Amino acid sequence: MEQNKENMMVAALENGSVIDHIPTDKLFTVAQLLQLSECKEEVVIANNLKSNVMNKKGLIKISGKFFSESEISKLAVLCPNIRLTVIRNYEVAEKREVTLPESLTNIVKCANPVCITNNEPMKTVFYRKDMQTLKCRYCGKEQNLKDIKLK
Ligand SMILES: [Zn+2]
Repeated sequence: MEQNKENMMVAALENGSVIDHIPTDKLFTVAQLLQLSECKEEVVIANNLKSNVMNKKGLIKISGKFFSESEISKLAVLCPNIRLTVIRNYEVAEKREVTLPESLTNIVKCANPVCITNNEPMKTVFYRKDMQTLKCRYCGKEQNLKDIKLK
């Protein structure tokens, strides 16, 4: 039944993206990251939906929106286990679990104030140490995902 309802919500979209399995406490942070308050297209934001895999979840549906890899990486840093569905002509064109990539270029800031990336006009590079920790390529500082600042 749950699955049918989800399919109906997705099917109603002609072209666009659906972000599912958003932790309920991250929903509005994600909405802010995606600048949804500026969006002129049809947007559906739902929270505290019942979920089989999580206790409760958030969901965002955006008409006419296709995410860049950089936006997807930012989403992955913010909530590492979301599901992204891309809809084209009312059909599911792509469905993927978004997980933390092995490396992130210019997605997050280094927390070390003396790191070269904070003092020179250059891109940051972070490696995934584990699913909770990123490590700066330049100064080696490790940072927990929950404390990370996006660029
Ligand atoms: Zn650094």
